[in-house]
Amino acid sequence: MTFDYDLFVIGGGSGGVRAARVAAGGGASVALAESSRYGGTCVIRGCVPKKLMVYASEFPTEMRDAQSYGWTVHAGGFNWPRFRTALHAELDRLEGVYRGLLKGSGVATYDARATVADAHTVLLDGGQSFTARHILIATGGVPVRPDLDGAGHGIVSDDIFLMDTLPRSILVVGGGYIACEFSCILNGLGVDVTQYYRGAQILRGFDGEARGLVSEQMIDHGIDLHLGTNILDIRPERGGYAVTSTKGTEKWFQTIFFATGRNPNTAGLGLEQAGVRLGRYGQVEVNEYSQTAVPSIYAIGDVTDRINLTPVAIREAMAFVETVFGGNPTPVDHNLIPTAIFTQPEVGTVGLSEEDARAIEPIDVYCTSFKPMKEAFAKRSDRVLMKLVVSQATRRVLGCHIVAPGAAEMIQMVGIAVKMGATKEDFDRVCAVHPTMAEELVTMKAPIRKS
Ligand code: NDP
Repeated sequence: MTFDYDLFVIGGGSGGVRAARVAAGGGASVALAESSRYGGTCVIRGCVPKKLMVYASEFPTEMRDAQSYGWTVHAGGFNWPRFRTALHAELDRLEGVYRGLLKGSGVATYDARATVADAHTVLLDGGQSFTARHILIATGGVPVRPDLDGAGHGIVSDDIFLMDTLPRSILVVGGGYIACEFSCILNGLGVDVTQYYRGAQILRGFDGEARGLVSEQMIDHGIDLHLGTNILDIRPERGGYAVTSTKGTEKWFQTIFFATGRNPNTAGLGLEQAGVRLGRYGQVEVNEYSQTAVPSIYAIGDVTDRINLTPVAIREAMAFVETVFGGNPTPVDHNLIPTAIFTQPEVGTVGLSEEDARAIEPIDVYCTSFKPMKEAFAKRSDRVLMKLVVSQATRRVLGCHIVAPGAAEMIQMVGIAVKMGATKEDFDRVCAVHPTMAEELVTMKAPIRKS
């Protein structure tokens, strides 16, 4: 049987673009369809604009610190439209880079919504239809609002980067990556931020001590964080919304922002009719090679809801190409993936939390929390945390948790050691770099807890 293409990729985000480029670079004939903008969530409405907003939001604190260091300087006013224009110019540039990379690799691109008709056929919304030996689903995820009357009044993370003006006050709902990162960003930009999280502590699933410190610092920095709290009722009022909380309080917000999770983007793709199995949240079910129940159809990235991070989608893309076009079946290694939360302060983490490790085996916990030099000099109360969770039996470092400015950069390096199986004694054999915050990771002598 002959096909129009060896590979048809649906979705032009980080995973889809990487798979298309690498497969085409190896000689395959490849097409890719994208219904929105090239670059996907990460580049257009996620990691990249978010990180630029983090930078923007840090300047007021930097300016205040600068005063303590002898400078006569103050932040003045923040001009959101000016920043937004520059931000979108940068995103346009990056989208152009993505398009250029695809073109340069010989990938045929279609600016269209694609659906799957059967195991080897893709339909475009313009009416075109193509056959492909393999189809790769890389359609990512979409933000979800809670099932709540009036939820349509709120915005979601996609909308944040497009706002005409910054609201004076905002209610951020949720306690995950997106809620906490944007509470910190908006607070830094001068918005009056209230955050409701329904659980007992934000950032569920991360190390307990790290979560506690981030939450404490967020409150210290002026975020009105309410734990064990959700929205009971929303009423449009005075150009904003009067919100009654489950705790019975009532407060007016100009904007409500739902950061209440993301679902796999599979609605209306025709996958189930083609025989692809979907999970409870619409995620494409795949095996270790990212292959679906239909052997010619694969899926990578957030649409599979495994570990929803850009670098993981890229790894899944590379493993897919190696498996299907390289003749070398390559499972994706989802173990010990370092990750960062760009709160202020940042969290960098790899491996098991203390709580998860303790449930598996006896551990020693090495942990220190202190005021870092730069912030202490500026008379700030901020503290940092450096923590190692160590197996008593093997002495391997099972987890490392850092809460500190620059934690994301630090954990990338620690991730190498942890992935290599380093023991606490390996860490100790490394000479400290002084004066730094990270030197504590190689100088902690005695465990603060054993279990
Ligand atoms: P998360 O799943 O991390 O968090 C969703 C939050 O919303 C949770 O706190 C959840 O509470 C809460 N929630 C869910 N439903 C409701 C509801 N009905 N009412 C009130 N609260 C609710 O999703 P995010 O949207 O924050 O992020 C999505 C994914 O994007 C992340 O998992 C991550 O993989 C990725 N991401 C990564 C980033 C990074 O690497 N720095 C940055 C941003 C996103 P509960 O805890 O009780 O379930």
